[in-house]
Amino acid sequence: MKPVIAIVGRPNVGKSTLFNRLTRSRDAIVADFSGLTRDRHYGNGRLGDREFICIDTGGFEPIAKTGILAEMAKQTKQAVVEADIVVFLVDGRLGLAPQDRVIADFLRKTSRPIILAVNKAEGMSANVVASDFFELGLGEPIAISSAHGDGVRAMLDEALDAL
Ligand code: GDP
Ligand code: MG
Repeated sequence: MKPVIAIVGRPNVGKSTLFNRLTRSRDAIVADFSGLTRDRHYGNGRLGDREFICIDTGGFEPIAKTGILAEMAKQTKQAVVEADIVVFLVDGRLGLAPQDRVIADFLRKTSRPIILAVNKAEGMSANVVASDFFELGLGEPIAISSAHGDGVRAMLDEALDAL
C-alpha cells in the first residue's frame, strides 16, 4: 500500500500549489477507491522510487452555509482519518494566524505524524520564517516554497521517513 499524505491548513496558505507540485499535475486526479470521500482531490506522487498518494483539502464544497472555521475543521478531520502522514501548511509571509492555532490544537491530539511546513519562504531566511511557528508545539517547522520548489524535496523526505 502506498502511504497517504494529507495536506491541511487554513485557506490560501498554498495547499493546492503544493499538491500540484507533489503530484506534478495541474488537473487533480480523483482516485476511485473505497473509503475515500470525493469532496477532496487525490493524486499520485513519487519521490525517487517511493510512491505515495496525496490529498489536497479545502475549497471543494460550498462553505457559505457552515462557515469557514467549521468547514476547515471538518476537512482537516476527514483528511487526518484517511492519512498516514499529515503535512500542516502555514504561511511564512503572513506569520502565525489564529486559524493555524485552531488546526494545531486539533492536530496535536491525533496520533498521525505531523510535518509542519512553512510555505512561501522563497528568498527568506529559513530560521526567521520558522521562528514564529515553534510555539504551535508540532516540532521543528520546515521552510518551503510550494511555488518555487525550495525545500519541498527535503520536506517530503522527512514526511515519508516519519512513517
Ligand atoms: P490553498 O487555498 O491553501 O489551496 O492555497 P493556493 O495553493 O490556492 O495558493 C494561495 C495563494 O498563495 C496563490 O496566490 C498562490 O500562488 C500563492 N502561493 C502558493 N505557494 C506559494 C509560495 O511558495 N510562494 C508564494 N510567494 N506564493 C505562493
Ligand atoms: Mg486549495
